[in-house]
Amino acid sequence: MIIFGPVNSRRFGLSLGVDLSGAKKQCNFDCVYCELEAAKPMSEQENVLSVEEILAKLRAVLKKSVKFDVLTLTANGEPSLYPHLKELILELKKLASDKKILILSNGTAVLDEKKIQALMLCDIVKFSLDSANEKTFYKIDRALKEIHLSTMIEKMAEFRAKFSGALVMEILVVKGLNDKEEEFVLLNEALAKIKPLRVDLSSIDRPPAYAVSGVDELRLLELSQLINSAPVFIAKKKSDVKLSFSKEELLATLRLRPQSEFDVECFDEKSRENLKNLLEKGQVKTLNLAGVKFYKV
Ligand code: SF4
Repeated sequence: MIIFGPVNSRRFGLSLGVDLSGAKKQCNFDCVYCELEAAKPMSEQENVLSVEEILAKLRAVLKKSVKFDVLTLTANGEPSLYPHLKELILELKKLASDKKILILSNGTAVLDEKKIQALMLCDIVKFSLDSANEKTFYKIDRALKEIHLSTMIEKMAEFRAKFSGALVMEILVVKGLNDKEEEFVLLNEALAKIKPLRVDLSSIDRPPAYAVSGVDELRLLELSQLINSAPVFIAKKKSDVKLSFSKEELLATLRLRPQSEFDVECFDEKSRENLKNLLEKGQVKTLNLAGVKFYKV
């Protein structure tokens, strides 16, 4: 499913997702916390969707007058590995000219001049930075060995200086890996160089690829106190927006992104009924992750 949602993203509003990786996970990281299955990292996409195929799927969704604020470029993996990124973004800007374009990158996009040019066309760029310590970075993100963290941080700062849109950084905290104060002192220094608009701090809230766990909200609050170089946002799920899904749409969404019980709070009554029905038929399963219920296909 190339187009999915809309999903009420806690951080970016009502978002319609564009998956640039198709069915297969294609990423240059293999993060321990990934919500997709563990997979060997790759430097280039092996299965490449055509720009026309993506645009045709989007046109079909737009015809249904689906409400959303942001068109989010994401992937079953790293969206900047998509080789036709610039060409695609230029077309998307024509097709959905009144919507913001957001890309959710793991940060490696800054290591390639061609990808930087594509990112410059977006309204919002989100980069991940889970650690500013090379050793911890590899432990968490399990990146390809040719990816150097110090270069990435340097290039992120260069990108920020030229980018006229909003740069958001995301730190995901994994228990026992980057939840120490020393980690956050280093992250604070890196963020002081990058100067993002906002830093989103979160922990694992979806089933992870490896046997790791997250930290609680109190620990996130404590760690957030160590960052004074940028405003920190700790995502909380609360929204008045009600989302509507048919059974087919629910199955397609859950296949791509398990939804938590908090996400389901944003479903309208009919969508909840549909979910209940799918659960009764065994087409949707529930999963408990550290006390939070998830719905998954
Ligand atoms: S960068 Fe994203 S898609 Fe890639 S392994 Fe990490 S969490 Fe998964």
